[in-house]
Parts: sequence; C-alpha cells; structure tokens
Amino acid sequence: MNRYIKEIGASEFQSEVLDAPLAVVDFYSTECPPCEALADKFESLAEIYGSRIRFVKIFRQENRDFAASLDVTGSPTLLFFKDGQRVGPKLTGGILRSAIVKQLDSMLTPEVAAELKSSVAHRRTEADVLVLGGGPSGLASGIYLSQAHLKTIVVDTALPGGFVASTHQVSNYPGFIQPLNGYMLSHQMTEQAKLNGVSFRAPVEITSVDLDGKTVTIDGVETISAKRILIATGSSPKPLGAAGERELVGQGVSFCATCDAKYYEGKEVAVVGGGNSAVEEALFIAKFASKVTIIHRSSSLRANKAARAKAEANGKIEFLLDTKVTAIDKRGNMDMVLTLENTTTGAVSSLNAAGVFVFIGFVPNLGGVGAGLKVDQWGYVETDSKMRTNIPGVYAAGDVTAKHFRQITTAVADGTVAAMAITAELD
Ligand SMILES: Cc1cc2nc3c(=O)[nH]c(=O)nc-3n(C[C@H](O)[C@H](O)[C@H](O)COP(=O)(O)OP(=O)(O)OC[C@H]3O[C@@H](n4cnc5c(N)ncnc54)[C@H](O)[C@@H]3O)c2cc1C
Repeated sequence: MNRYIKEIGASEFQSEVLDAPLAVVDFYSTECPPCEALADKFESLAEIYGSRIRFVKIFRQENRDFAASLDVTGSPTLLFFKDGQRVGPKLTGGILRSAIVKQLDSMLTPEVAAELKSSVAHRRTEADVLVLGGGPSGLASGIYLSQAHLKTIVVDTALPGGFVASTHQVSNYPGFIQPLNGYMLSHQMTEQAKLNGVSFRAPVEITSVDLDGKTVTIDGVETISAKRILIATGSSPKPLGAAGERELVGQGVSFCATCDAKYYEGKEVAVVGGGNSAVEEALFIAKFASKVTIIHRSSSLRANKAARAKAEANGKIEFLLDTKVTAIDKRGNMDMVLTLENTTTGAVSSLNAAGVFVFIGFVPNLGGVGAGLKVDQWGYVETDSKMRTNIPGVYAAGDVTAKHFRQITTAVADGTVAAMAITAELD
C-alpha cells in the first residue's frame, strides 16, 4: 500500500478522518472491477496530494452499516472531508481521475495545488498494441494479442465491457445454453482479458491521440506509445434532436432500458424508434410500465417479424406510427409532455409520459480519436479484410467500422481478425 494511504475501520473514522483538516475516503469492496479501476488512481493521487490531504480506505463489506450511515450504498464511493465536515460531491462507480483532482484542488489554495502538481512526472509507457475501447471487439483482440505475447494495453473512457454491459439479456452469443445477463458476459470477457495479461487504463479521459505517431495521452499524465493501434470504440445511441431532449437526459429521457426501466413501475412511458432495438427494449420496459407507446416516424416498423408479433400481442404496448417527437418538456415533478407531429399530415398533438426511451440508431464513437481515418458516408471507419484502416499500423474493429451487421459475435470476430493480422505483422 502507498505510504500516504491508511486502511481503517469504522472505529478510527473520528481520529483519522474527522479530526484531520483534510481527508478523502475510498469505500471499496473486493470483487469489484470499478474499485480495482479506482485503486491505481487513488494511489497515484495519494503520491501527489498525500502530504496535504489524508488518504483513507475503508473496506465497505466489513463496515457496511457504518458506510450506510454516511449514505454510502455502492462501491467504490469517494467522500471528501474538510475540518470534520463533508465537502464536495459523492463520487461513485466509474470515477474519472479529473473529477477527483477537481475536488482535491478545491480543498487547497490554488498555489498549493499548483505546487503539488508541478512535481508530477509525466509517465511514458511502451506497448506493442494499444487498443482504444474495451468492448467485445477490444477485449477479444486483447485476449488474442496477449496470448501471442504482445504487450497490450486497453484504454477505455468508461469501465471496460462495452455496450453489452447495459444489455439486459443476451441470448444469441454462442456458448451459453440459457440467456445470459449482459453485464455478466462483459464482466467475464474483461476478467478473461485480465487473466491473459491485458493491462487496462479505465475509465480515463483521452487527452490526445496521434494515430500517425502511434501515441495516446491519457488524463494528461501518461503517454502510451505502441507499435500498432486498434480502434474498437463502438458506437453510441443517436439522440432524437428534439427540443428539450438534451436537458432531460437522466431526468426522464433515457437511452438504456436495462439501466432505467425499473424506475417506471406502473407508469406510462414512450419508446421512440421502430427497429429491433426499439421493439425488443419496449417489450422489456413493458414488464415494469403500465403502458408503453412506441412512436415511429414511418408507417411500419422496421423490426423483424418475430419482435413485431411479440409487441403486437403485448396488451401494454400501443403504436403511434407516422409520428415524430419534436419537443420534450417537463415541469417540476410532473410527467413529461411530448410534442408530436404527424409526418404525413403535419398535425401537431401531445402525449404525456413519465419516461421517454430513445432507440433510433447509432453514431460511431470517433470524437477525438478518428482524425485522418477514412470513413463511410455515415462516419464509420472503413477497413480491409484484415481490419486495417487507411493509416499504416492503425486497425479498427467492431461496431465503429463500416459494415452491415453489428452484434457481439461480429465485434468479437473483427477483434480476432485484427489481433491475428497484427500478430502476423509484428512477427
Ligand atoms: C439495446 C441493445 C441491445 C443489444 N443486444 C444485443 C444482443 O442481444 N446480442 C448481440 O449480439 N448484440 C447486441 N447488441 C449489439 C452489441 O452490444 C454490439 O454489437 C457490441 O457491443 C459491439 O461491441 P464493440 O466492442 O464494437 O463496441 P462497444 O460494445 O460499444 O464497446 C466500445 C467501448 O469503447 C469505449 N469507448 C468509446 N469511445 C472511446 C474513446 N474515445 N476512447 C476509448 N474508448 C472509448 C466505450 O466506453 C466502450 O467500452 C445490442 C445493442 C444494443 C444497443
């Protein structure tokens, strides 16, 4: 353990935390990937700030009641204290280094914070392969590359696992007889990659990417140079673009049924979209909600027959076709009001809904990492059959690439092909 970090139990909280002028406490658990991801950052920040701020760890599983008394109900959770009082936000889950730094800085004078940080040496790391994105494609490539004895670092802006982690059930990934919880599948892939020797930097902020020079700087403190770079950053749900939507994300507007459907028990919600994702997620949401209205801009759903048939047979699901959402409004704790426009007649109407789930497609995640890459008309990265991009030594795999079908199996397949091609090249 780092010289500045002290592990304590509840009985020492008064003397070690409340009696200290400044303290930060990490409530952690074992078998907790986000806790492991935080541990490195906590240690390196203790080296920088430890002479001024007390760094404390509390094992939450053994101090559960005490943690709960401080409103700590998940691991990891970071709490900050100044002169015995809680200050700043409660940070929990996949915690970014910048969020911790911001809070620690605010507890010091600007001069002291600057002086402490001036002593930080920029870290330089060499790797054979740097993989941007730790979803199924990045993890599969990591497993193959590590087994080929290539030093592989996976860098992710979130916790590794990718989109699968937020999918409630996966029933089409071979090898599992029963449908599998998406989180468990991504967890197992991540642990398998770790076991094979893949190193992770996650969740981090990408400071800069130089694809030609094969370097990536993260959190402003570490530059990783690699012989090859694989871009496996996936894609993200496309927003509707309706007025008010952006402001209400997380406050009624959601892109993830697995994460949020449970909050709508007995309530009426809207699902926007007409493809497979929209219809399948609507079926899941209908397990909680009292009514689900599927709103789709054309006259028929694009979802396949089987999904459509299930939705049509579900008494809680209704359809509003030829309709688009132009605005979403919410006043206080009231339901949201959706302004709707008929796409053929132009007639305007409104619909009240406690929640709005948006499933209208995806955009590739290339912000800040894609400069110079050849992309198709929708912005997805073009590759050859070995997943090579137009930039020598830069590969792309998974949902971020231009292709017809995007599934876990296809992402894993791309990652495998890229890893084997890279291995052959580096041999
Ligand atoms: C609602 C829903 C349900 C689905 N259900 C299924 C299913 O049942 N079966 C199935 O086969 N497929 C399913 N899919 C599709 C499947 O999830 C994807 O095809 C698969 O996850 C793609 O894997 P990937 O590794 O390419 O990308 P992702 O899984 O998206 O992973 C990309 C990773 O890159 C990270 N990242 C993003 N930007 C950056 C950056 N700039 N730098 C570094 N890292 C970055 C992300 O945090 C993420 O961890 C579903 C998709 C959705 C939306």
